[in-house]
Amino acid sequence: MEKRLILASGSPRRAKILRALGVAFEVVKTDAPEISLPEDPERTVRENALAKFEVCRDAPGSAGAHILAADTIVWMDGRIYGKPRDAAEAKDFLRELSGRTHRVFTGMAFDGDTRIATSDVTLRDLSEEQIDEYIRRVNPIDRAGAYDIDESGDLVVESWAGSYENIMGLATEPLAAWLGDGIARGILLHTCCGPCASACVPRLAAAGRRPVMFFSNSNIDTKEEFQKRLHAARIVAAGNGAELVCDRYDHADWLEKVAKGFEDAPEKDARCARCFRYNLERTAQYAAAHGFDAFATSLTVSPHKPSALVFAASADSRFEKIDFKKRDGFKESLERSAALGLYRQDYCGCEFSKRKAT
Ligand code: SF4
Repeated sequence: MEKRLILASGSPRRAKILRALGVAFEVVKTDAPEISLPEDPERTVRENALAKFEVCRDAPGSAGAHILAADTIVWMDGRIYGKPRDAAEAKDFLRELSGRTHRVFTGMAFDGDTRIATSDVTLRDLSEEQIDEYIRRVNPIDRAGAYDIDESGDLVVESWAGSYENIMGLATEPLAAWLGDGIARGILLHTCCGPCASACVPRLAAAGRRPVMFFSNSNIDTKEEFQKRLHAARIVAAGNGAELVCDRYDHADWLEKVAKGFEDAPEKDARCARCFRYNLERTAQYAAAHGFDAFATSLTVSPHKPSALVFAASADSRFEKIDFKKRDGFKESLERSAALGLYRQDYCGCEFSKRKAT
C-alpha cells in the first residue's frame, strides 16, 4: 500500500487489530454526528461509519491518504445499546443484556466503500455483584453495550459466534481487499482446536499467508467443552495476531447428519470421514460467502487423523491439502501449546470418541 492509512477512530481496540496485522497507520479522532435507528441497525452503522469517513476526509492533513472508519453497536429486541453515558447506565445495559443473546454490528467505510459485519454474543447470567466487579475492573464508558470482550471478557461473556474482531470493533476480513499489498490475502483455516492450530497458524504466516481461523466444531459433545476449546483457539489467535471466526454450534444437527447409524463405528473410519466432510463443507461455505480463495484444516496435525482421510473429505477446488504433520508438526503443536498453557482435550470430540477413550 503506497498511500498513508488514517484510522478515523480513537478506539484502542481497533488500533490493536491493525497493529496485529502489521499495518502502518495514523489515528485521527472524529466527532462526526451519529444517527441511531433501532429499526435499522445496519443503516445505523453504515451511515455512522460513512459520516466519520467524510469528516476525516475533509480534515486538514488527510489529502491523499486512505481513510478507514468504523462504527460498532450492540443490538437486541429492536434496541441499540451504544456507549453508556455513566456507570449507572452501564449497569442498566449489563442487567438487560444479562443471560441473553444480542447481535453486534460493525459498519466499516474505506475510501467511501462500505461493509457490515455481524456477530452474536451471549452474556452470562450476571448477578449484581458480578456486574459491580466487572465495572470495577473495566471502564465501560467507551464500550458499546458496556462490555469489552477483549478485556476481562470471560467475566461477562458466555459464548459468541461470528468474528471476534468484529465484536472488538473492526472485522479484518474486508481489509485485505481494501489495503491491497499491505496485507496478504487470507487463507481460511478450519481450526479443530487450539493445540493443533498452534502449529498451523505460525507456519502459514511464515509462508506469507494470512490465516483467518474458522472454529467450526459441532461434533463436540457439549457446549462447555466447545467453549473450553474455543478459548484455547482464541489464545492462539491472539498470540499470532490472527482473526478468529466462530461458527454456529449445532451438535443436534451434527448427530442427525453425521453420527446417525454410525455411532459404533471405530475412530478413523466412516463416522470420522463423515465428520471431516461436515466440518469442511461448512468451512467451504464460509469461504465462498466471504471471498476466500483458499482454505485448509488443522485436522492434519494430529496423528489420530489420517491425512488421506481428511483430504478425501472435500473436493472443493479451494481446499489446499496441506499436511501439517510433516516437518514434525505434531511435536511442534505439543511444544507450542505447552508454552501457551493451552487446554488439551483427552478425547476427540464427539460422545462416541469419549466412550471409547474412557
Ligand atoms: S471421533 Fe472425532 S473425528 Fe471421529 S466422528 Fe467423533 S469427533 Fe468426529
